[in-house]
Amino acid sequence: CGIIGCAGRGEDTLDTLVHGLSKLEYRGYDSAGVALADESLDVRKCAGEIEDLREHLSGMTVEGTVGMGHTRWSTHGPPTDENAHPHQDCTGNVAVVHNGIIENYQSLRDELVAAGHTFHSDTDTEVVPHLVEDALNDGLDPEAAFRQAVGQLEGSYAVALTVAGTESVFVARNDSPLVLGLGDDATFFASDVPAFRDFTDQVVYLDDGEYARISPEGWEVSDVDGTVVEKEVDTVSWDP
Ligand code: GLU
Repeated sequence: CGIIGCAGRGEDTLDTLVHGLSKLEYRGYDSAGVALADESLDVRKCAGEIEDLREHLSGMTVEGTVGMGHTRWSTHGPPTDENAHPHQDCTGNVAVVHNGIIENYQSLRDELVAAGHTFHSDTDTEVVPHLVEDALNDGLDPEAAFRQAVGQLEGSYAVALTVAGTESVFVARNDSPLVLGLGDDATFFASDVPAFRDFTDQVVYLDDGEYARISPEGWEVSDVDGTVVEKEVDTVSWDP
């Protein structure tokens, strides 16, 4: 339902994510979660409200150079802690948040289970971290692994991936909104501008089939073939 992510916010990363999630509450949701990544990954999530999530955030071990958060409006699987996003692979090094519906998730899941993957949720979303895990095991770098995984999806998605040790978040969209926010020292992404509007009014709207990588060093948008796309930067004029 709602996605927020950022890179370059340093020790304010977690606060930035929780603030963004609270700005997305108006869309409605039944669960929430966050992932912070540096050399390792820390995922916290639960059914319920942002206030409930706050109680799960104490003692996060990862400082987080990058992070992402999600408010879930269930489509596949009831609102439970396990079904809340982010979802992870078998190694725990990969985390994914997703808005939308993956229409072909059942056949992908059947193949992954047959190949030995263990699933922890009922969601359509969880196929994505497992597809990424397989691609990483095949020797692909995280960006290529993300492209290969997303390329297998049918349906609607705004999807974000982070992998421990990469200091990057990778995003892609099809039929579901996704926008980058360009701050002075940080880059944001969200399903909706209010999530980061308190930090910047400079935005880049992604189109279907586009990918972006954000890191503390900046951002880059590319098309489905990996060719860099020059994007227009818009200024949002309305107040938060
Ligand atoms: N289909 C996903 C789920 O049920 C994502 C729902 C959403 O857009 O929040 O978990």
